[in-house]
Amino acid sequence: MLLKDKKVFVTGGSRGIGKAIVTACLEQGAHVSYLSTKESPFHSEMEAVAKASGVTLKWFQGNVTDEEGIVKIMEEVTADGLDVVVNNAGIERDGLVFRMGTDQWQQVLDVNLTGAFIVAREASRFMIRQRSGAIVNMASVIGLMGNAGQTNYAASKAGLIGFTKALAKETAKRGVRVNAIAPGFIKTDMTDKLKDDIKESIQAQIPMNSLGEPEDIANAVIYLASDMARYVTGQVLTVDGGMVM
Ligand code: NAP
Repeated sequence: MLLKDKKVFVTGGSRGIGKAIVTACLEQGAHVSYLSTKESPFHSEMEAVAKASGVTLKWFQGNVTDEEGIVKIMEEVTADGLDVVVNNAGIERDGLVFRMGTDQWQQVLDVNLTGAFIVAREASRFMIRQRSGAIVNMASVIGLMGNAGQTNYAASKAGLIGFTKALAKETAKRGVRVNAIAPGFIKTDMTDKLKDDIKESIQAQIPMNSLGEPEDIANAVIYLASDMARYVTGQVLTVDGGMVM
């Protein structure tokens, strides 16, 4: 068990990649709390995994953009102990830039970048005092290579990568590691919404010729969160079937 008795907090853990991360952490022996705006349709499924592993699972209802609410939740989370934070909550609001309203731009930046900043700030204060911890930020290949119709999303994910590297430099001497994962196209609600012709054109750009599974990203999180990656910080691990090389 790579995360035995570690305390893990995951944002956006209710479905998709986040649900796979919560499940994998429970299977690896971690006590997990997760945050989402709505109740997860998979909560009882995750609870069964927690029970089988003899660990605890806790859900916090909250929004990463609600600074006051997040500060309170992080107080409660850190009071129980905290070793790993996964900033996974994310949204997209696609559109070409010349048609994009400022609110459409801002919503994505608020959730994907500012939300991760607020959670990481509260977590790193605690981890620095503790002199240990790992933060994993969920970026995207879109933050590395761009994508037409996703200027807001690409900017938020490229921003998250810069944030990861700067925070890694701030915290490295204090025993806290900060890394990012850049998933390619993964089968979740986020990619399910895409039209079939778009999915086909995406698949054609993937050397391994298939979309990834949420578990492929969860495996990368387990690695970066565990002591297996004890000498790794400030990195972006691309998990994308070979899209970006
Ligand atoms: P998803 O299926 O749409 O799930 C998004 C998760 O984030 C849900 O748990 C959702 O909970 C939560 N969330 C959204 N807004 C939130 C907010 N303001 N506060 C708290 N929680 C919030 O997405 P996904 O595909 O699993 O993606 C997860 C992460 O991976 C995102 O950061 C995404 O950008 C990134 N990513 C995904 C792909 C992909 O191909 N799927 C590729 C690259 C990167 P509620 O439903 O309760 O709001």
